[in-house]
Parts: sequence; C-alpha cells; structure tokens
Amino acid sequence: MEIKNAEFIISNTDITKCPKPDKPEYAFIGRSNVGKSSLINMLTGRHALAKISGKPGKTQVINHFLIDKTWYLVDLPGYGYAQVSKTDREKFAIMIDSYLTGRPNLLCTFVLVDSRIEPQKLDLDFMYNLGERGIPFVIVFTKTEKLKSGALQNAKDRYKEKMQEMGWDDIPEIFVTSASANLGRKEILSFIQPLNEE
Ligand code: GDP
Repeated sequence: MEIKNAEFIISNTDITKCPKPDKPEYAFIGRSNVGKSSLINMLTGRHALAKISGKPGKTQVINHFLIDKTWYLVDLPGYGYAQVSKTDREKFAIMIDSYLTGRPNLLCTFVLVDSRIEPQKLDLDFMYNLGERGIPFVIVFTKTEKLKSGALQNAKDRYKEKMQEMGWDDIPEIFVTSASANLGRKEILSFIQPLNEE
C-alpha cells in the first residue's frame, strides 16, 4: 500500500468532536520526543504533515488525518513530558482514555518507544492499561538506525522480558523503524492494509 493523499481534518481535545467513526482508524502515541511526528511524516511521505517540534510536549491535541479518503491516521499527544503540570497530566490522561475507549473504529494503536533506551515504566504501564482494556496495539521502535543489529535484538528481548514479567503471554508485534533512515514504512503500511479491508 502506498499513501497518495493525506489530508488534515481536525485538531481537538474533545472526543465528541472527532470525525464520525465511519472509517478504520489507527492512532500513534508515545513519550514526547520519541519521534512520532517524524514517523507520521515518513509514513505519509509528507514533510510537514505532523509538526516536528523542538519543544517536546507541545501538542496536547488529537489530530485526525484522512488518508486516501479511506482511513484515519490519528496523531495523539505525547505523554510523559516532565515540565507539564500535574493537573495538565491528569487532563491529558482523561482525554487519551476517553479517546482510546470511545472510538469503535480504532483498529490498532501504535505505541512508539525509543529503541535506544531501556524499557521505561511509563511506556510499559501505558501498554499494560491498553491490554487490560482489550485495546489492540503494537510497539514501534523509533530511531533504530542508531543501533547495530545485536543491540536491536537486545532491545527487543528486553521488552519481551519486561512484558512477560508483567504477565503478558503474547507479546505484541514490534516494528523496527527509523524516520532518518526511512525504515519500517512498508512494514507498517502492509500491516494496516489488510485491517482496512476486513
Ligand atoms: P515527537 O515529539 O515524538 O513528535 O518527535 P519528533 O518527530 O518531533 O522528533 C523528536 C526528535 O527526534 C527530533 O530532534 C528528531 O529530529 C529526532 N528524530 C526523529 N526521528 C528520528 C530517527 O529516526 N532517528 C534519529 N536519530 N532521530 C530522530
């Protein structure tokens, strides 16, 4: 699958204002600065669809993009930004929660993690919560061009270990990507295509 057209639809903080859930939808989320905007731009082949920000944590809105008039790509705000107040963090958690549980057309959530760092509690807890609610998700390793293949395998093994410790039997699929080296685009789009056709 190739993306021919990507159109910004709406930015909002209120899930009742999201587009009608009448098309398959895929959400992208991760810690601030994980490389989410860069990945979205790579997937869509657009340089500035999602803004690459020097200021992590700035986008606290849900952005809907309509792809080839057939599915929605949703850019969720980055979490775990230290300089955000507790009240804002709570507001954020409520917004994300209502989004994740309130979209019947959400077919998969892509949870981005920086492949160069050890599995973080914040990310593992986020995934655990998704699992508990039965929200389908996969893991996306970002910035993998920085890792040699041994280190990459190691990073995968560390996630598997940690998730097994938390009680997971089946570990979700891990996509290996790099926006800088243009890696992982085909794999992610090939994963989305059959879901769109179901
Ligand atoms: P976001 O905050 O998650 O949307 O992350 P951005 O896409 O804005 O990227 C955060 C920082 O990581 C920026 O400095 C990017 O240039 C850098 N970055 C993003 N993708 C990659 C990648 O594939 N490899 C490397 N080395 N850096 C990346």
